[in-house]
Amino acid sequence: MRTGAIAGVLSWGAPLPSDRRLIKILDFLGVPHTNLDLSCKTFDTSEGQLGGLRPIASASTIRHALSAGAPVTDVVRKLFRQAPAAFIYGVTPERLSAVELNSLTDGAGVPAWVGPPPGSCYRVSSGYRDVCGTFSGLAWRPTSWKERVPAFERDAENLETLIAVEAWPVFARRRRGVSEIFLLCGQDVAELDEVVRENFDVHSRFIELFPHMMFLRHAFPSAGWRPGHSHGSLIIDDPPLRTRYGFLNFRRLVQAMDDVGFSSDIALIPWNFRRTQPSVAALINERRDRLGVCIHGCDHTRSEFGASDRAHLAKLTTIGIERMEAHRRDHRVDYERIMVFPQGVFSESAMEILKSFDFLAAVNTEVVPSHNTSRAGAVALADVLAPAITRYNAFPLFTRRKCRDSLVNFAADIFVGKPCLLVAHHTDFADGGQALIDLIATIRAVAPELKWSTLGTALRTTHLWRREADGSQWIRMFASEISLTGESATERHVLVLKSETDRQRVGSVLVDGRQAEFGWDGDLLAIPITLRQGQSASVRVVYHNPFAGADARLGARYRFRASVRRCLCDIRDNYVDVGRQGLRRFWRTADSRY
Ligand SMILES: [Zn+2]
Repeated sequence: MRTGAIAGVLSWGAPLPSDRRLIKILDFLGVPHTNLDLSCKTFDTSEGQLGGLRPIASASTIRHALSAGAPVTDVVRKLFRQAPAAFIYGVTPERLSAVELNSLTDGAGVPAWVGPPPGSCYRVSSGYRDVCGTFSGLAWRPTSWKERVPAFERDAENLETLIAVEAWPVFARRRRGVSEIFLLCGQDVAELDEVVRENFDVHSRFIELFPHMMFLRHAFPSAGWRPGHSHGSLIIDDPPLRTRYGFLNFRRLVQAMDDVGFSSDIALIPWNFRRTQPSVAALINERRDRLGVCIHGCDHTRSEFGASDRAHLAKLTTIGIERMEAHRRDHRVDYERIMVFPQGVFSESAMEILKSFDFLAAVNTEVVPSHNTSRAGAVALADVLAPAITRYNAFPLFTRRKCRDSLVNFAADIFVGKPCLLVAHHTDFADGGQALIDLIATIRAVAPELKWSTLGTALRTTHLWRREADGSQWIRMFASEISLTGESATERHVLVLKSETDRQRVGSVLVDGRQAEFGWDGDLLAIPITLRQGQSASVRVVYHNPFAGADARLGARYRFRASVRRCLCDIRDNYVDVGRQGLRRFWRTADSRY
């Protein structure tokens, strides 16, 4: 007899290709599942067997089952009547009629085709946050509409609209007593193995992925992986720690952070380590709660971390760390070993080097290496939906988004358990940075539960968790260190898991700074710890570094060219960009006067 909830993927014969893609989503979320082939007619329909089952079926499988007659029809009706949650996807007028739907759900909508006008939006209801999460209340226009899309006719009785194309429901719920049936009109199911070259974009991929995830999260609250608390942070690239850099004014930034309630990290170019003004260093030290510092390359030369030469990358990393340490000594400004790649350019070798030098993680807008290796296209949709990409030597790459990106993509990041990371440059603070501040205020309104913290805290607290039948908890960490706080009233056994591809590279595991036992489960490093309510614990994985003691000298020619480049960038940011803005203002004023 089964205990606990399990997804039952119904099929007629072998699972359909769309069922197989849906099973990948189940596996991705860690939801236990089984396949029930209705054409066999031999399955066990006892209460014990069906008790924890949440049926999932395509509309065409339902049609097969309903037209097969007893006993299959009776079994399917019984399944949907008693299951606390069930899901039918791929509803179209051709695949499932209103009569068939009615026979299963006791009244539901009438499937129809609608032709959305080009300006139409997906609209997610604001009334069902328990299902739709951070998407609740949002509306956006997809990249393009097909000529016609399946939906339910408007104003169906007893149907709660979760997602609509304008006013036509496409994802809806029919509640009957304790059972809920979720109906999805989208025919497609996303292929999680699809190779991608960019972070996901809800405008081009939504209906074939997120309603499925919404249902599974809702239907399996105590099974499968769930995100921990999400954190948000703004990362400002490039500025030296000076009162003013281009349009960025540090005191105004701190004021805006206090007014709106957000946190920032400065991605500091180590080359700038001697240019810090004591007043800004003091400000950062005063406001460690909201203002952090991480590493942005070494000299910020063109594609400097896109190189594949490991010795050269080890040299750049060593010099970068030496400069940041000197900066810490001179100004007492703490920093995190988090790499933000200059120009977003990185190589797989760079990821390996950063891991060797015990970096916490890398953060980037791009998700694939710049150089054209055979593995450059190895990132799959599943990788970019995870809290961090672990495809490159199992060193975590957290994604961030430009502040021109749309609100719904930030909402989707929070929904899947990524930290909500925005990137800005000094130019985003022209005109006081109002657009950026408004975006952050809107994200805060959409996700009031989001905690704003420095980047190090955001990455250290990012995790997925699941509860096992024996009451223990499993946690998947992504950065090389995780901070946890016990929430259970009793002492809880926690198994912390981390993806690792090379066992030989793991030097030790530190729990609260002390060496701890660890084991392996396939490619997962497994660290058992115990947590009491309110107790904090940190788990850190330390790696062997074959590149330690790398030559930390760069040639005079290289250093000269790097210095020239940095000076030119300073002139561009402080005089050209600011001057251009001043000129634009002058002409606007002149235009209005004369
Ligand atoms: Zn930069």
